[in-house]
Amino acid sequence: MSRSTRIERYRNIGIMAHIDAGKTTLTERVLFFTGRIHSTGEVHDGSTEMDWLPQEKQRGITITSAATTAFWSPRHGPSAGTPHRINILDTPGHVDFTIEVERSLRVLDGAVAVFDASQGVEPQSEAVWRQADRYGVPRIAFINKMDKVGADFVMSLESIRERLGARAVAVQLPLGEESEFRGLVDLVRMKTLHFDGEAGEYREELSVPEDVRQRAETLRLRLIEAAADVDDAVMEKFVDGRLEDITEEDLVRALRAGTLSRTLVPVLAGSAFKKKGVQMLLDAVVDYLPAPSDLPAVEGLVPGTEQRASREPTDDSPPAALVFKMMSDKNVGNIVFLRVYSGTLRAGTVLLNPATGKRERVGRLMFMHANRREEVSEVHAGDIAAALGLKNVRTGDTLSDPEAPVVLESLGFPEPVVHLAVEAKSPAELPKLEEGLHRLAAEDPSLRVGVDPESGQVLLSGMGELHLEVVVDRLRTEYGVEARVGQPKVAYRDTLKRAVRQEYRHVRQTGGPGQYARVVLDVAPAARGAGLVFVDDTKGGSIPRELVPAIQ
Ligand code: GDP
Repeated sequence: MSRSTRIERYRNIGIMAHIDAGKTTLTERVLFFTGRIHSTGEVHDGSTEMDWLPQEKQRGITITSAATTAFWSPRHGPSAGTPHRINILDTPGHVDFTIEVERSLRVLDGAVAVFDASQGVEPQSEAVWRQADRYGVPRIAFINKMDKVGADFVMSLESIRERLGARAVAVQLPLGEESEFRGLVDLVRMKTLHFDGEAGEYREELSVPEDVRQRAETLRLRLIEAAADVDDAVMEKFVDGRLEDITEEDLVRALRAGTLSRTLVPVLAGSAFKKKGVQMLLDAVVDYLPAPSDLPAVEGLVPGTEQRASREPTDDSPPAALVFKMMSDKNVGNIVFLRVYSGTLRAGTVLLNPATGKRERVGRLMFMHANRREEVSEVHAGDIAAALGLKNVRTGDTLSDPEAPVVLESLGFPEPVVHLAVEAKSPAELPKLEEGLHRLAAEDPSLRVGVDPESGQVLLSGMGELHLEVVVDRLRTEYGVEARVGQPKVAYRDTLKRAVRQEYRHVRQTGGPGQYARVVLDVAPAARGAGLVFVDDTKGGSIPRELVPAIQ
């Protein structure tokens, strides 16, 4: 297998889950087993390697999509012994950050969906699953927390089938559940893995224990049926009743084809926390998830035309890359995360950003590992890398060969739903506030910054309260601006208008002239405070000018 090309040994994956299903813990364990970090801290004490921003550590949630490179050589099967590069794009689980999830889904090739074994499919797992469907992302599932009270493999498997409508195919059977969880039966190889120590050690046995043999055989038969549906060779052996002739290679090939065509989802189990089952999951990432070369050439438009263009994932085609994430760093400035779709990008070369029509020089290029940055002179088709030195790019922009320009399909950004007014504590802080907001908005297209023409307030609009809370936090920690926040006056005025209108109608229905006084007394002071203009009303009261047409 060592004859495979570089790009065939790449896996660009995301780990997606409902919040608290264990995505961060699993990511950390993956980095532990791939040898990139040597000790694993627990999530709650804020020492996770994947998390970047201080507030992520404080909150114990993962907000940004950092990309991390790790290496893994599968121990069995067709890719045994060949090192594979696994680029992990961390996808946030909080519902306010689904936009970040979309962004990662756009650039990754496959995903591991993590479920809590005691919960099965949860609302957010369903939301992210549907997003992954939209982007056509092949998936494998990991039923985590098999050690937890209430862990139930069969329930979780069924919930993936029923709630997500996926053809979930168990490729493992857990030995025991909750505190009894002690191993896994590998249904492809029909071997048993017993977990033996605290650091993920296991020992392999050729046989399957008697008490689970029946269940394992039933599940294996289901696996073979699913494999037969996507692979003719397996189908032939299956219909001839030659089950013993179906080899491990046959099943891996068929499951891979089924995963890539999204007709089935291989399901694995384990406990990230107890380091059980993580190595087997890494094997499955290599065996079942696509390499960039398995996917069709990326499509785009020739700028300024309706003409479509495609770019092959090869090193010698014209370079084209998509900016999917930007972060700022005090020491190095903008860190621009790129997915390279085609060609070779070299440090120091000039690329075109068709969104601005400007040429930009790529300063330095690097791969992000869990605990270090690795500077390289070039990156290639299939790579996920970070570039420094780019000034005028935004998330969603394409960088392409100036001689063969292309605009890759950008990311869709929904309209923000939550608004907040921010104000610098002193006029002296205003430039810093503006600078901070400008940079944060370039990083995050789901964040809008604007000035309300009537009130003059600076308004932030975003995907949820937590989203904006994080922005305000980052203004403080990264830009040293203590911003005062409040509800925008616009929204306040709208609420007030509604209140006045309601009160007015009530008065019209129940009282005669003179009752206007009540309206005025009840709501006028607040309305005045909100900047509404009052006019004299001949019937004896005064009502806001803006409301006159609305209530008559
Ligand atoms: P995320 O929100 O999906 O990133 O989840 P975290 O990795 O932060 O985990 C949420 C909580 O579940 C933490 O308290 C973890 O220690 C715990 N947890 C993660 N994996 C496991 C597991 O395999 N078993 C048990 N019992 N707890 C786990």
